Amino acid sequence: MGVQTRLVVYTLDQATAERACTAAFNRIAQLEDIMSDYRPTSELMRLCARAGGPPIKVSDDLFFVLQRSQEVAARSHGAFDITVGPYVALWRRARKQHVFPTTEELAQAGKLVGWQKVRLGARHKTVQLLVLGMRLDLGGIAKGYAGDCALDVLQQFGITRALFESGGDIVMSDPPPGKAGWNIEILNAGQELKQHTRLLANAAISTSGDTEQFVTFNGQRYSHIVDPRTGLGLTDRIAVTIIAPKGITSDSLSTAVSVLGAQQGQRLAKSYPGTWAYIRRDHDKVQ
Ligand code: ADP
Ligand code: MG
Repeated sequence: MGVQTRLVVYTLDQATAERACTAAFNRIAQLEDIMSDYRPTSELMRLCARAGGPPIKVSDDLFFVLQRSQEVAARSHGAFDITVGPYVALWRRARKQHVFPTTEELAQAGKLVGWQKVRLGARHKTVQLLVLGMRLDLGGIAKGYAGDCALDVLQQFGITRALFESGGDIVMSDPPPGKAGWNIEILNAGQELKQHTRLLANAAISTSGDTEQFVTFNGQRYSHIVDPRTGLGLTDRIAVTIIAPKGITSDSLSTAVSVLGAQQGQRLAKSYPGTWAYIRRDHDKVQ
């Protein structure tokens, strides 16, 4: 997934720890084979290659993530949208070659974007992409799901005290021995909180918009998170941290809330049980 992934586990013997972590990393690699948008051979890219055609049967993992993606898309009124691939490609090019997307390019890409252009068939786990050339991007949800799956694998080895960390996504099971939780620092908790630590267990935390990936044109910063309604990278300097019961939820909501902004974003987060959003806007930047 282009970033380092770290596992922390507590167990009484080293051999179990090593076997369990190897299995968990294998599971993460398997998910990457399915969901990567860099590898043309991934299940996701093979599905996209058949866009415009009939429904295709997909793996349980891919179907599950697509179903959750569509649910977040509907509940966020399209702020979270995995069909943004063609826009994301234009912004990746912008970052790499410093070529700003033209109005024409954005309009062409826009014809391939829209979460309603994805049809899921629950009964046979099929996916139909309605328009030729569509390109799905699971970059805003796959890492959180990988974290959930990695902890499930560790659990199968009897390891219940573990932490997964990959980029801005952290998923935790039970706390370290003798502790009430994993000590997690939220760096962008907003002005009133400055730095804020929380003890978390059996929870996930994701941060988006931490402005490492952006491109500047005419003094304006454009984020790698795209507003699906305009095709433009977000220019609002907003940093969002979500705490939720599962990684798949915290990861996708952090992206969705970044697009929606503070007010609507808080409302979306609150509609998910056991979920909190910390939102920092540029003007309350913590120095
Ligand atoms: P990070 O990649 O830093 O963990 P996010 O979890 O917020 O950050 O995901 C950003 C990624 O999600 C982008 O790199 C892109 O692949 C994808 N993406 C961008 N905009 C959207 C969007 N509006 N809806 C869904 N996915 C998006
Ligand atoms: Mg995210």
